[in-house]
Amino acid sequence: MIKRDITGDADLIKQINLTLVMNIIREKGPISRIEIAKISKLNKATVSSMVEELIYKRYVMEIGEVKSKRGRRPTLVNFNGDAGHVIGIELNVGFMTVIVVNLNASVHWKKTYPISTDEKEIVAQLFKSIDEAREAAPASALGIIGIGIGVVGIVNHQTGTLVIAPNAGLQNLPLKHLVETYTGIQTFVDNDCNTSVIGESTFGAGKGRNQQILISVTNRGIGVGIFIDGKVFRGQDGFAGEMGHMTINMEGPRCNCGNRGCWELYSSPQALIRNFMKSKNLESPPKVGEIIDLANQGDNEAITALTETGEFLGIGLANVVNTFNPEVIIIRGDMARADKWILNPIHRTLSERCYFYSSTRIEIVPSRFGELAASIGAACEVIHYWFYSYEQKL
Ligand SMILES: [Zn+2]
Repeated sequence: MIKRDITGDADLIKQINLTLVMNIIREKGPISRIEIAKISKLNKATVSSMVEELIYKRYVMEIGEVKSKRGRRPTLVNFNGDAGHVIGIELNVGFMTVIVVNLNASVHWKKTYPISTDEKEIVAQLFKSIDEAREAAPASALGIIGIGIGVVGIVNHQTGTLVIAPNAGLQNLPLKHLVETYTGIQTFVDNDCNTSVIGESTFGAGKGRNQQILISVTNRGIGVGIFIDGKVFRGQDGFAGEMGHMTINMEGPRCNCGNRGCWELYSSPQALIRNFMKSKNLESPPKVGEIIDLANQGDNEAITALTETGEFLGIGLANVVNTFNPEVIIIRGDMARADKWILNPIHRTLSERCYFYSSTRIEIVPSRFGELAASIGAACEVIHYWFYSYEQKL
């Protein structure tokens, strides 16, 4: 009994060291074993044996000796991103995007599918697209290590159940269970804003930042991904971040959430389109991209409509900044392409409304991954679990 306990501890310590060495190579590679020993504070023999194990398992490659004037330098080792692959999925309203990425989140394959509004059909379409992604994934040492799904809706992250996605007509759908039963592959399910902020913080616009907020501004409204102290903040029931419905005008119009004067009524793409149509006396609605193109050509009404949207985004963001004091705010969705027109009004509104605000202390940037943000982020959630969880044997 005692012996088994000791073995258990030794296993755990080995796993912790292996994870430590692995992540130093992922983050700092190409790197020498001596350098790894310095950073990890492990002795050189331990580092060497960990590196050998990682090479044997194909996570790590030697990239040869480097010759310099001062003679031969030690062999460097680097992370092998192609050791395995991940399927990332964004399950949206009316469509889903499915991608295959390697362990560095480089996209190998992607496809967008129209989807039904019927639950059974959506599940069948999801399975079929996963089959296609598995076919498309290149052969690799580890194969598909997991599936990540970012859903536009409220998700119980622990059980992987989609609690409700009102616009998609889905409710109490045990997505994790269904996909794992069908594929036998470990699956993670999260809200799309949460997956997006995980992706941006791992490899994207917020890489290496511990305090970041992602706002998703699309024709479905405004959602927020909150990444604080290096972790996603989901709240008790998984709907932290539903900030599109915070009140910015007590007397404002009725929102379909039941409240009045919600933030998203003023700063969503629909609000932009509505204001632009009014100022131009248009009968049919233009696309957001068309308004941005017109602004880029110098159209005054387009510039004014975008500036106003930026100001309204700033009003809501003032509440976000006062609440979370982030290092970076990442804008994802239809409005991200309008950064040239909305960033100045956002910064101006923030400096007018936030007592402690300093534009040199907070960065506001468009998402790096654009329309793949939610699917890449879903894949990053798998990658993150794989490389940082000790339960997951490397
Ligand atoms: Zn609302």
